[in-house]
Amino acid sequence: MNIILFGPPGAGKGTQAKYLVKKLNAFHVSTGEILRSEIKRNTEIGKKIIHNMNDGKFVSDEIVNNLIKNIIFDIQKKNKLIFDGYPRSLTQAKNLNKLLDETTQKINFIFFLNVNKETILNRIEKRKVLENRSDDNTDTIIKRYDTYMETTKPVLDFYSKNQNFVEIDGSLEIDEITRKIDTFINV
Ligand code: AMP
Repeated sequence: MNIILFGPPGAGKGTQAKYLVKKLNAFHVSTGEILRSEIKRNTEIGKKIIHNMNDGKFVSDEIVNNLIKNIIFDIQKKNKLIFDGYPRSLTQAKNLNKLLDETTQKINFIFFLNVNKETILNRIEKRKVLENRSDDNTDTIIKRYDTYMETTKPVLDFYSKNQNFVEIDGSLEIDEITRKIDTFINV
């Protein structure tokens, strides 16, 4: 089963992705993680993307699409892909469709974890108190949220026409979201 988790930063995609990976014995395809690893290893790609990443801007479609290609063509991962953070643009969404076609795969479900700005802010405030995290700067988070919503709108329009598109209220508790996802994937 191949699944796309779609939604703004703070919607809980990563948490649900980890659950699905375990349950379905699948692979977590987080482009954010892949890109951070390129930077950490100081690769040629890493050097190219470091500035965009640090500014919270998107990395070019060309770079991201190339990195994704290897994963989709990996036979061991066939039909075991949980996408988290990809696709983020229409070009990426079309590229994904093309690569899946080429490898005789499809997307089984697109779960859109829809969550409003207010909920994200409440969560950050809670997390600040609980975990004392220094990276949870409210302004930065708002900016990332707005950028995400604006730039991914065409992707949302593209997928919302799909039969396998499922919108889930991302402001629900983690367990409740998981339960909702389960009702679709448990066949
Ligand atoms: P994430 O961990 O998904 O929040 O991604 C962290 C950062 O990685 C983003 O702010 C972007 O700079 C970059 N990034 C991750 N996925 C993509 C993507 N599909 N397309 C372009 N940039 C991405």
